Order: sequence, then structure tokens, then C-alpha cells
Amino acid sequence: MARGILNSLYNLSLEQMRELMMELGQPSFRADQIWRWLYLRLASSYDEMSDVPRLLRDRLSARYVVTPISVVAEQRSSDGWTRKWLLRLSDGMEIETVLMEYADERHTVCVSTQVGCGMGCSFCATGQMGFARNLSAGEIIAQVIHVARVLRAEGETLTNVVFMGMGEPFANYHNVVRAIRQLNTPVAEGGFGMGMRRFTVSTAGLVSGILHFSEERWQVNLAVSLHAATDELRNRLVPLNRRHPLQELVRATRRYIQRTNRRVSYEWVLIEGVNDTAEQAEALVKVVEATNPHPHARLVHVNLIPLNQTAGFVGQAPSEERQRAFCAVLDQAGVPHTLRVRRGIDIAAGCGQLRTREALRRSAALKSEEQVAHPPAP
Ligand code: SAH
Ligand code: SF4
Repeated sequence: MARGILNSLYNLSLEQMRELMMELGQPSFRADQIWRWLYLRLASSYDEMSDVPRLLRDRLSARYVVTPISVVAEQRSSDGWTRKWLLRLSDGMEIETVLMEYADERHTVCVSTQVGCGMGCSFCATGQMGFARNLSAGEIIAQVIHVARVLRAEGETLTNVVFMGMGEPFANYHNVVRAIRQLNTPVAEGGFGMGMRRFTVSTAGLVSGILHFSEERWQVNLAVSLHAATDELRNRLVPLNRRHPLQELVRATRRYIQRTNRRVSYEWVLIEGVNDTAEQAEALVKVVEATNPHPHARLVHVNLIPLNQTAGFVGQAPSEERQRAFCAVLDQAGVPHTLRVRRGIDIAAGCGQLRTREALRRSAALKSEEQVAHPPAP
């Protein structure tokens, strides 16, 4: 039976929390008190809110859950640096959240913004599942709070939030912006206090979203998933390119740099024989030059990510030799770039891959149960 989406306290802005308290005939300090429970003490249940009157907690719980997510599965990569959670939403749908730890003490959470994704990038596990629905701001925030709570229990602190999980953030613009604003509320106001420079939003190139985001005038980092530097190839890898071709995307990205003065990154998933060629590297240099607002600016950084293999795409990461050859073209042109190490590969930490694997595992388990229930006739 289909279950509805439950409303969560993490969906309310501080302003809305104050209005709610007023509606319930409560003093306004209660709003700040509950807000602190949510964002400073990282509460996940009403039981924890010991100084909030029981009657008020009961009334709130009739309308709102505290957190709209629960953990289905947790995996840790064999090197221990990457953890991944499969989380269930109140309507039974599932998403993924990843934590990446780095030697320099950075703890970065990678959050999902949609269940599935409608952009259909051929190499992406999330794209291969299609689009189910947008996440609410509360469902996005709750992923961050969940990981912050896990880290806190280990004496660590969450330092960065990247919108690089399942979904296209700018296709859920309003809720993504609300989640950032809410998580950015200063600690002095009882908020989570995540600085704007510690967020990164990654987009497949939804131009209207980039342009709107430029006007927020925030110091948030922008990553653009480019993957190809000619329209012919990008149309195949990122179908959204047919709607917003490269020239339009480059113009919007440059606009983001001009409005925010921030360096942006172009993401490039390296696929052998597809986009790891010298021609594509040379075309990429031209795209980077066209994006920089003035000739000697180095405000565009290229992140190269060897492909994580997915069930629905025939393709593989290039050999190290080919990767080096691609980097050499960028080096020669003075384009700043980083070749990412493939992290969490053993837990399928690529976007959408854990959910796919869990689904396969479950359907395999289901089949073997069916076989027990209905043993084949002798
Ligand atoms: N929809 C947004 C953000 C989520 S995808 C976007 O596309 O930018 C986050 C990043 O994961 C993107 O750069 C995407 O290209 C990359 N990605 C998707 N599938 C991948 C795979 N199989 N291997 C490596 N990176 C992948
Ligand atoms: Fe969606 Fe990003 Fe995957 Fe493309 S790469 S299908 S935009 S999640």
C-alpha cells in the first residue's frame, strides 16, 4: 500500500517554527528551543527534547515527525575512508547518502536531492533508474544531520556538504536553496552554522538554475558536470545538452564566476575511448578558456574522475597511461586540474550505485525465497 510523505520538523524554517508556536499558543522561545534541539543537538526523536513540555511534544508529533529518514543499510569501504547509507523516506522510497573522510580532517557529506533523476546521463546509475520525486528541504537537511550525528558520536565534526548524490539539484531548486539557507543559520541563533563556502552544488547543466543561483549572491561552490567538450559527444552522454548546448552552459557558468568571484569546477568522468581522447582534451581547453571571464584568469578547475562501472552502461575507466596523456594536454595549456582517486569503489560509492546493488540483492533474495515457497516440481 502506498504511504504518504510525512511532514518533518526539519522542513520548517525558524520563522515558520515561530509561527507554529504562536498558532499552538506557545511562547516564541519554544521555537528557538526546538530549533536548537534540531540543529545544535542533532535530535532525531521527540524523546530527546527533555526540556520541551510533554504535551507540546505530543501535539507536534501528531503533525510532524522529527526526522523523515531511517537507515536501511550502512557500508564502509575497505580503506575505511568512505561510508555510505541507504536511507528510507516516510513513503518507503530510498535514497543514498555518502560520507567521505580525508586525511586533512575534512569530513564531507554527499547528499541526494531527488529520488532517482530524470536527466538520463547514460553512464550514471541514478540516471539509469529514472525520476521518482523531488526531496523536500527537510529530507535533504535530515541527511546532513544524520551524518553529523554519526560523526559527533565519534568526536568528529562535519565540515562540508556537497550536492552530488542522487538527483539533479537545480531540478529541485527551491528545496535545495531552502536546505542551504537553513543549514547556514548561525550557531549563535541555534542553527547548524555551515558556512556558505563549505557547500558545493553540482549540476549537469541546468542553465536556468545556474543563472538563478548566481543571483542568490552566495559564496557556494559550483561544480558543472561537463564530461564532453563538443555538442556532438555531450548530446550523447548528457541528454540535457540537447536543451542547453555548450555555448549556453559556458555563458551561464561564466556568469556565476562573475557574480560570485568564485572558482568553479568542471567535472569530467573519464570513459575509455569516449571522452579521454586528445581531441576532447583540446576541446576542453577551449571550453575552459571561453568560461574564464578574462584571458589570464584561472577560475575554472577541472576534476577528472575515472568512471565507476555501472550495470546499465558499457564502458570503462581509461588506463593510467591514457589518463596521464589527457592530463598532459591540460598541463600544457595551463588548465588547473585534479585527477581524483577512485574512492569507495568496493562499496559502489558512485552516485546511485548502492541503491541499485541493494535492489539487485533483494530481488535475488526474493527469488530464492520464492523458490523455497514454491519448490520446483520434481
Ligand atoms: N546531477 C548532478 C549531481 C549528482 S551526480 C550532476 O550530474 O552533477 C554527481 C557526479 O557524479 C556528477 O559529476 C556525475 O557525472 C558523477 N557520476 C555519475 N555517474 C558516475 C559514474 N558511473 N562514475 C563516476 N562518476 C559518476
Ligand atoms: Fe542525474 Fe547527475 Fe546522474 Fe546525470 S549524472 S543522471 S544529472 S544524477
